[in-house]
Amino acid sequence: MAAVTIKDVKVVLTQPAGSRLIVVKVITSEPGLYGVGCATFTQRFHAVYAAIERHIKPFLIGRDVDRIEETFQMLMVNGYWRNGPVLNNAISGIDQALWDIKGKRAKMPVYQLLGGKCREAAACYTHAGGDTIEAAIDSLRALMAQGYQYLRVDCGGYGGKPAQLHKPEGAAEGPYFDRKHYMRTQLKLFERVRAELGYEIELCHDIHERLQPIEAVGFAKDMEQFKLFFLEDPLAPEDLEWFKNIRQQCSTPIAMGELFNHPREWQPLIEGRLIDFIRMHVSQMGGITPARHVAAFANMYGIRTAWHGPGDTSPVGHAANLHLDLVAPNFGIQEWCRFPEHVYEMFPGLPEVRQGYMYPNDRPGLGIDIDEKLAAKYPCEDEVIWWTQCRLPDGTPVRP
Ligand code: MG
Repeated sequence: MAAVTIKDVKVVLTQPAGSRLIVVKVITSEPGLYGVGCATFTQRFHAVYAAIERHIKPFLIGRDVDRIEETFQMLMVNGYWRNGPVLNNAISGIDQALWDIKGKRAKMPVYQLLGGKCREAAACYTHAGGDTIEAAIDSLRALMAQGYQYLRVDCGGYGGKPAQLHKPEGAAEGPYFDRKHYMRTQLKLFERVRAELGYEIELCHDIHERLQPIEAVGFAKDMEQFKLFFLEDPLAPEDLEWFKNIRQQCSTPIAMGELFNHPREWQPLIEGRLIDFIRMHVSQMGGITPARHVAAFANMYGIRTAWHGPGDTSPVGHAANLHLDLVAPNFGIQEWCRFPEHVYEMFPGLPEVRQGYMYPNDRPGLGIDIDEKLAAKYPCEDEVIWWTQCRLPDGTPVRP
């Protein structure tokens, strides 16, 4: 039987709801057979587009669509210099599309190829919050009424919105962040939330790597009393050694890792049992292939999955997350960003969330497609990213 080969690769850029999305379409030698994958790196989408169009496409034309693992391994080293967000997202677009194609050829959903379901649907959490504690609690109540059993909550966005900031004269414009104010505000928020809503609802909180390491240790200890489902990104990837200090001092469950690039970055945290959830941004890691390797490794250590699921993961990426969720014995939770209705029209097959659970459809492959004509109606706009230009009150640039 002649191999089905890659005939063409197309990159679709679209911005239907805030984030610039990158979806890759791998077109095969078999008429009508193609696959889709998420390559979204919203802040640097032109770079991913060029990497695929100019470098990866010529490498792929004529290759056997069935050899997913080999293709992933070769793409990771073909540029010689490796492990960066631009290339990894580009590779993810190809990897996910090849899984989609394999499922379509087998006439099975991808979760079947990965071993079959461990569960009917993936429990999700979504984001609650508000500028005040009252608004955040109202937002939690509204989402609980929709059936969510797990919610992330913060007050004032990442870091709060302090009314008084003591800035120096001539301070630049931008989003400012006061670490002490942030910690005080969130502790007050969680005290009120537990007092008013009790302990039945599972709560997450994302520090977004904004604290000094020693502050993160103290904050994780202070949050222990509120029995979180997890506390996310307490430390930056540059400060991994500090996880031991958090672990030695409290039992707050820790989720980490949306900024990691290479699968091996997980190794010390998993082996050391220093975290509880892997918060991998699947496209940032290179797609389904590396994600399932890391998930299996984490399972050996009792560590659960919590794939990153923000609005700057495309609907195709969310579908890929769901297939991984359904099969993992160590599934923990799935983050969900609640796309507006017109995004469902643009991406037929986008998984539905009902009463806090995300359900697959039973179509072959990833079960999702993109309507390119609709996507073209929402072109990506160029913009210098503002929210990542974060500063401390004295003007010092900090991680967003
Ligand atoms: Mg996060």
